[in-house]
Amino acid sequence: MSYAVKEIYLTLQGEGNHTGRAAVFMRFAGCNLWSGLERDREEANCKFCDTDFIGVNGPGGGKFKTAAALADAVAAAWPQNAGGKPYVICTGGEPLLQLDTPLIKAFHARGFEVGIETNGTIAAPAEIDWICVSPKAAAPLVQTSGNELKLVYPQKEAETHPSRFEQLSFEHFYLQPLDVIGDPAQTAAHVASAAAYCLAHPLWRLSTQTHKILGLP
Ligand code: SF4
Repeated sequence: MSYAVKEIYLTLQGEGNHTGRAAVFMRFAGCNLWSGLERDREEANCKFCDTDFIGVNGPGGGKFKTAAALADAVAAAWPQNAGGKPYVICTGGEPLLQLDTPLIKAFHARGFEVGIETNGTIAAPAEIDWICVSPKAAAPLVQTSGNELKLVYPQKEAETHPSRFEQLSFEHFYLQPLDVIGDPAQTAAHVASAAAYCLAHPLWRLSTQTHKILGLP
């Protein structure tokens, strides 16, 4: 199969359990919960997305005809002979629309650990090393196990109340305050309510988007 990739870049993971760790972000084009077009946002299953995942025109993006070609492009973004375990985070869009076992094996053959950031609506291949699921309202959760569950908070729908996820098989549970673009007061209110929930329910930890605070990509 071929792969449509919006962008590939080296940065520090800004969220969740691997915050601060160097990683190659590989953003697949396309999502199954929103077209990515503003005119469709109100009708989308996921309404608060802040990511451009349309097309293949970002830095390092393109259409890759083979798993080997894409894995080579990711490997080229990692600093050579610099120590540390190479790490690729497959994100999107929804990465599990495209990430398959041949690509995961191609990453492993180049020494990479493979992480994903998924909305949880598609089952993940077993070979993935780090699974981060971020459930979205109105979307059925299929991937109910993994390493971290990262819930954007608050979401209006009852299905996304944190208590709905506490029995699932994850090692870490994070609440991430909903960032309202252009409305810092509303964002601050979400930070306060997420922090309060974590204080009252210590299973949950607060995940802040440190890359936004620090101005990293
Ligand atoms: S599931 Fe993720 S990538 Fe898709 S629209 Fe929602 S936030 Fe954006």
